[in-house]
Amino acid sequence: MHLKLGWLYPTLMGTYGDRGNVICLEKRAQWRDITVEIIKLDQDAALETWSEVDLIVGGGAQDRQQEIVMRDLQGAKAEKFKALIEADVPGVFTCGSPQLLGKYYEPAVGQRIDGLGILDLVSKHPGFEAQRCIGNVAFEITANPLAENLAKKLGYKAVALGFENHGGRTYLGDVQPLGKVLTGYGNNGEDGWEGAFYKQAIATYAHGPLLPKNPFIADWLLEKALERKYQEEIIFSPLDDQLAVQARKTMFNRLNLSELNNSA
Ligand code: GLN
Repeated sequence: MHLKLGWLYPTLMGTYGDRGNVICLEKRAQWRDITVEIIKLDQDAALETWSEVDLIVGGGAQDRQQEIVMRDLQGAKAEKFKALIEADVPGVFTCGSPQLLGKYYEPAVGQRIDGLGILDLVSKHPGFEAQRCIGNVAFEITANPLAENLAKKLGYKAVALGFENHGGRTYLGDVQPLGKVLTGYGNNGEDGWEGAFYKQAIATYAHGPLLPKNPFIADWLLEKALERKYQEEIIFSPLDDQLAVQARKTMFNRLNLSELNNSA
């Protein structure tokens, strides 16, 4: 089997280490003898390149870079990106990426950045004098069918761990939150929700990177991408994730969530 992994503007949207999500997906596929081709979806990518991808990863960025990306992600490219998400191409989008998948992002300074309108959400940066949302985050995944799929595979409710670093606050419209905040800020530090989930696209503020900290999400993305591409059910055998399990237990203890160690 073979997967084409699209990486959104890796140079501009790589500020917060989310390339780790690309590496995690690539290795977890290769460890299962699935070949992976990484395709940069950036200013130089031809439109037909976008059509080929089976899975998309988008990382975080500073406001300035987000504005540059949106100047390029217009017209046919924007329409193609929307069509991919609507056609159930799985993806994981972190922080600055989901802000651009929403209706708009109002940065700390400068004009409102119109988004792609794929996700029914808006994001607003309250200004540099406001507390920045920085720190560890833990959240119970509640969005379906993702939560149901993960609970069936894991045998318990999935809890995701990550690290936040954002000034923007996100407010959801008619779209599922990805999860319920257990500790940390989440979308805005007010409504208790983290991220968003639409079709097979995961939007989150959790860097870390997200996927090495939560390998079950990486496997979900890979399985869904392969199922969609090969039109057959894909059920992975587990990998040896003992290092991730130990790291998760350490974080649950550090965050006073040791009762979740069975979710490690
Ligand atoms: N620049 C955006 C904000 O500050 C996104 C930050 C990020 O991607 N971590 O909210």
